[in-house]
Amino acid sequence: MKPKNQKNPASLTKSVGKFRLSDKVVLIPEMNRIGSHLIAATFKSFGINAHVLATYKGLDIGKEYTSGKECFPCQITLGDILLYLKTEQQKRGAAFDPGNYLYFLPTSDGPCRFGMYNRYQRMVLDSFAGLDRVKIVSITTKDGYSLDGLIERSRMLDFRKASYIAIIVADIIERLLWRIRPYERKAGITDTLIERCRDTMQTSIETHAAAGSYDRILDKLDALVREGKTLIDPAMPAKPLIGIVGEIFLRMHVQSNQDLIRILENHGAEVVNSSLAEWVNFISYGQLRENKINFRLNLRQFNFKRLKTDLHKMLNFGSELFYQELKQKQFYGRVSKSIDIEHDHKVHHLKCLLHKKDIFTFDITTETCLSIAAIMQFAAEGYNGVVNVYPFTCMPGMTTSAIVKPVMNNRRVPYLDTPYDGSLQPGRETAIRTFMHQVQQHFQRHGRKGCIQQRAA
Ligand code: SF4
Repeated sequence: MKPKNQKNPASLTKSVGKFRLSDKVVLIPEMNRIGSHLIAATFKSFGINAHVLATYKGLDIGKEYTSGKECFPCQITLGDILLYLKTEQQKRGAAFDPGNYLYFLPTSDGPCRFGMYNRYQRMVLDSFAGLDRVKIVSITTKDGYSLDGLIERSRMLDFRKASYIAIIVADIIERLLWRIRPYERKAGITDTLIERCRDTMQTSIETHAAAGSYDRILDKLDALVREGKTLIDPAMPAKPLIGIVGEIFLRMHVQSNQDLIRILENHGAEVVNSSLAEWVNFISYGQLRENKINFRLNLRQFNFKRLKTDLHKMLNFGSELFYQELKQKQFYGRVSKSIDIEHDHKVHHLKCLLHKKDIFTFDITTETCLSIAAIMQFAAEGYNGVVNVYPFTCMPGMTTSAIVKPVMNNRRVPYLDTPYDGSLQPGRETAIRTFMHQVQQHFQRHGRKGCIQQRAA
């Protein structure tokens, strides 16, 4: 069945937006194999029935119901939701009630296509009998991912804090994986531990998040990190270090980026991917910055009515960012006593770096600002190479590439673009091998961040 013309335009506004999550099954796309599950665990802790969709298995369906002009993540997530609902329908038969499900699909404003995907997927769902009743829950960067309307107001702040803790935990587990796997004593032991970490932390978050017992979550995480450290073979020498930036979905979704980090590791690298929390901090920072600009403008125009709102929002987003960075410091600080994993860049620092180098600006928003600034930071810190991961034709990804390539060339820091669209690129293997050769040369000439040449642990 092909999508029909949209017959009910009202559905684009009435069935996409903020809806109460209680008493429904909330379907979450798996962008990140750890983060999505820990966020689902947070939902569960607050009594919300959340389910993470299996991913990439429905890609053929996703491609069938898109025209090819959409970005790759749209095809993936569309395929995931259609396959899930189709399977549920078959499994449950007459008992299948589409009105029981909410599809969680965040959106953003800004210049790229992401802001249209919830509407497009709405049209596709509406073209199937009954699936017009599956509402799309969409939180947006426009209001800093406000949860207003999703859960009771009295629990919103706690839910927000707990979700952020889940994101930090997921980032740390990923960083643990990338820190240990290149130096593991026996092939495969890190992957096994990380799977256990995900399951254990899922249970811990589900049990403690709603009560705000974050110390207990941190204790559990710290114990796993300490166990992880024992998997490292201390006799192994340090390897060249590569930083990854790019479009958030693709760089986190191992199926669609064809497990790029593992491939780079197999070619002799240690890799650090930019984190999920960095993106969340970027959204809070962006809102704080925008409201500061509005405040100054309204002050100049003596618009006192709006000044109050601006001030209120500034305080709101300012304290949110402060809390987020504080919690990151606390969690990373504790686990760093056991193992030297990479910490996150501060968004304000990245913004100042861009300003200083005068090559891009936060005024343009999108991930381009984060990616360009993070690349500059990686290069300054002594990373041996940087990879930009993005969906084929991704506007922010291509802008990053156009700006950064000559800069990295001048600085003689190896740089690689890896666009993906689900196909096997014929020259990709050669490009990665060439890049890794340059990375090794850079490593031999300059050492690496921290200059830890002799050891692994
Ligand atoms: S960030 Fe890139 S991939 Fe994502 S919606 Fe925008 S253009 Fe598409």
